[in-house]
Amino acid sequence: MMGLPTSAVVHGARLAAKTHGLPYDELDTTDIVSRFPGFRPCPDEVGIYEPIAGYLQVEAALDALLSSAREAGAVAHFNCTVQSLRSLPSHTVITTDRESIEARQVVLTVGAWLQEWWPTLPLDVERQVPVWFKARHATPLTSLPIYIREQPETGIQVYGFPYLNGQGIKAGIHHGGTVSSVSDIDRHVHQQDIDQLASALDFIPPIHPVEVQDARVCLYTNTPDGHFVIGRNPDWPTVVVAGGFPGHGFKFGPALGQLLVDVALHGRQAPYLFNPQRGRHGSL
Ligand SMILES: Cc1cc2nc3c(=O)[nH]c(=O)nc-3n(C[C@H](O)[C@H](O)[C@H](O)COP(=O)(O)OP(=O)(O)OC[C@H]3O[C@@H](n4cnc5c(N)ncnc54)[C@H](O)[C@@H]3O)c2cc1C
Repeated sequence: MMGLPTSAVVHGARLAAKTHGLPYDELDTTDIVSRFPGFRPCPDEVGIYEPIAGYLQVEAALDALLSSAREAGAVAHFNCTVQSLRSLPSHTVITTDRESIEARQVVLTVGAWLQEWWPTLPLDVERQVPVWFKARHATPLTSLPIYIREQPETGIQVYGFPYLNGQGIKAGIHHGGTVSSVSDIDRHVHQQDIDQLASALDFIPPIHPVEVQDARVCLYTNTPDGHFVIGRNPDWPTVVVAGGFPGHGFKFGPALGQLLVDVALHGRQAPYLFNPQRGRHGSL
């Protein structure tokens, strides 16, 4: 994490590391540049470096999760749309575009589409455009850590990964995207998306001049307090819902999966932090 000493990312990372006893190094501007020559932070910037932090290879992680689910007896149906759920006291009837399935318990994880399934939840769907850049001078970029940098002038948070062979260097801006309903999201990548991100990457000179390898429109699902939604809708007794993942849900997949099993099958309540009815007015 990089930014001014008072920035949310630096302050928050230090606090989290101290609270949970995680090892970390405090870096000043000179330390940052000498350890990671790809970075050129502003003179007053500092860093919190966690030596055991890393990134997940998403496709490999998904393959591994799917294999262990299958070994445990799961059957996966791909390219199949759930059209409706009828939740009864003893079971739920799931109607898809292919068939009808009866299930004792259902876990509904439809990402940004939760907005349509449960319209009274105050969820915002935010357009995000991560970009993979080619690198002409890859060497200083291969040793970058994963990072979030809070720009001193604007407070914009830009995150990214080291240069990976074949994949380029991935970066994105955390939040600040256009908010709309999930059906109205603009799915096209525009030059303006690239330009905005490229200028926020001015602290990584070897990326410039930027050359785009790939770019995608993705969706954040935001709750007002930034915490996830895990629990039951009172009108759906045999359905557990999990959603509201604003840009950091993937890494929690295995832990959330375990929690969802406990809620769906063993009568456990998810922590109140995730309760769909939390908040002063009964809903978030
Ligand atoms: C730009 C970006 C960067 C991110 N970076 C990170 C990161 O660094 N670390 C991290 O931990 N997380 C990150 N995330 C967040 C992570 O991607 C999400 O938290 C995670 O994907 C949420 O998982 P999910 O299964 O709830 O929803 P999704 O991954 O959105 O999956 C929902 C699925 O449900 C399907 N679906 C919807 N409706 C239906 C229907 N009616 N019938 C059948 N299927 C349906 C959709 O097609 C979709 O495949 C990022 C997200 C974005 C957008």
